[in-house]
Amino acid sequence: TRIAVAVDGPAGSGKSSVSRAAARELGFDYQDTGAAYRALAWLALNRGIDLDREADILTLLPDFDYDIGVDPNHYFVRVGGTPVTREIRDPAVSAVVSRVARIPAVREHLTGLFRSRIADGTRPGIITEGRDITTIVAPDAAVRVLLTASAAARTARRAAELDVSSTEAVGEQLSARDAQDLAVVDFMNAAEGVTTLDSTDLDFDETVAALVALIRA
Ligand code: C5P
Repeated sequence: TRIAVAVDGPAGSGKSSVSRAAARELGFDYQDTGAAYRALAWLALNRGIDLDREADILTLLPDFDYDIGVDPNHYFVRVGGTPVTREIRDPAVSAVVSRVARIPAVREHLTGLFRSRIADGTRPGIITEGRDITTIVAPDAAVRVLLTASAAARTARRAAELDVSSTEAVGEQLSARDAQDLAVVDFMNAAEGVTTLDSTDLDFDETVAALVALIRA
């Protein structure tokens, strides 16, 4: 049977890049769930939808044609056939994605998509990464991990990723988004049976190795 791995953590914890590298090493699929919330937020912005109007956001769901590459060597995100892999990382999307993600009907819809990806596939396992994977999307996953890092470490990593020098603004954006997201789901404390992996003092390769070790154990 296909091994399900669930990884949660705050913004900037490195869970996407770490999960993808671990999946590569293990020959597993890799599913980035934040990408789905981002893709829906991108579509809402693209259609000029007023993000304060939940009912208007919900009209997007029935034909939300979302496609993600789960091969860790060929990552892509498409909406309605249009590649949006880079666009969904835009600061404009990051700034509004939490408002889309807090709507219960949105979460239910996307959770259904995530679960079918976990269930179906030819690779021996799948690492799914997000905020509520260990608790809501796949509480029965064989391996459940909370990837954490100090706020300072997360800010420094994201600033390096975005190639900006003002870490202060990056830190503020990260903590504002986390605060909004924490109102919906707790991804700062490990739920029962979830292993915490603190990467504050680990480099990238060490963090990947630690995750792979937890999965192989
Ligand atoms: O992981 P990433 O930072 O790309 O996620 C973008 C946003 O998607 C989060 O800030 C959160 O609002 C939402 N999200 C979520 N549940 C998940 C994954 C992401 O609500 N499982």
